[in-house]
Amino acid sequence: KAAGKGTWRVFSDDMEIRIQERARLQADLRAALKARDGLFVFYQPIIDAGSKTITSREALVRWHHPQRGWISPAEFVPIAEQSGLIDQLGEFVLNTACNDAAGWEDGARVAVNVSAAQLGKGTIAPAVLEALSRSGLSPGRLEIEVTETAMLDDENGGIGDLRRIRDMGVRVALDDFGTGYSSLTHLRAFPFDKIKIDGSFVRDAVERPESAAVVRAIADLGKRLGVTTVAEGVETEAHLNRVLEEGCSEVQGYFYGRPAPSDRDAATVMELNRA
Ligand code: C2E
Ligand code: CA
Ligand code: CA
Ligand code: CA
Repeated sequence: KAAGKGTWRVFSDDMEIRIQERARLQADLRAALKARDGLFVFYQPIIDAGSKTITSREALVRWHHPQRGWISPAEFVPIAEQSGLIDQLGEFVLNTACNDAAGWEDGARVAVNVSAAQLGKGTIAPAVLEALSRSGLSPGRLEIEVTETAMLDDENGGIGDLRRIRDMGVRVALDDFGTGYSSLTHLRAFPFDKIKIDGSFVRDAVERPESAAVVRAIADLGKRLGVTTVAEGVETEAHLNRVLEEGCSEVQGYFYGRPAPSDRDAATVMELNRA
């Protein structure tokens, strides 16, 4: 019984620490957004399978915390979503990405992640329009990536927001395809321009015929629908050869390039990494 009690105490202390830690991070993120300090947008190339040229770059947010150093977006994006900071964070990424892309000499598109929490409020389409007009980037050079969970149901009007964005001439991609419960339903609910096949299938496809079959089925589906299919998480030449064989139209992953800062931020980021 004594051990049981002790276990409970440790558990509840641990939970309390985590709650405090979260509250701290939330306050620190709010401060970082306000001061425009420590937040960056990195870019990762997406390559056309045929021509091997860069078609677009995905914008991935990065945060260097004053005490903790680099914190993964997998940790702080959910905190932003739950605290209402996601709209501000999202606008920072959207504006930075459009400004940066407007200066790219190769004319590649830029892909920006939009979270479920940003949809259904009627605010995202005006924010996109503003980012485009402020940067002068043409709508055809912007892509918006939404995950399957963002599409789960449309009771909140998320599809209406996506429609308004697509009507501007911006492409809309379905991210992490295959990881949700009703992937195919989402394809029927909205005319996506692009399907991104989750990296877990891609990396698995070299060793497991089942995963290779899934990748091929999605690539075939894309062809039938006239939709671009991107294989995410391509880390090795073996991954690359596999997804090309299965018919994916574009590839993204460490094999071609890791997310990297813009030229403007490169020196600052190098300095932060040294410290
Ligand atoms: P995601 O949208 O699926 O982004 C792809 C993630 O895979 C990125 O992680 C990227 O760095 C990583 N990745 C790319 N190539 C490879 C590879 O070859 N192997 C492996 N193992 N991983 C690879 P990252 O940057 O840590 O972002 C994690 C997630 O955080 C993203 O997943 C996205 O859901 C979210 N996120 C990132 N930036 C933003 C943003 O600006 N807004 C929102 N709402 N979410 C974001
Ligand atoms: Ca994405
Ligand atoms: Ca993804
Ligand atoms: Ca993901």
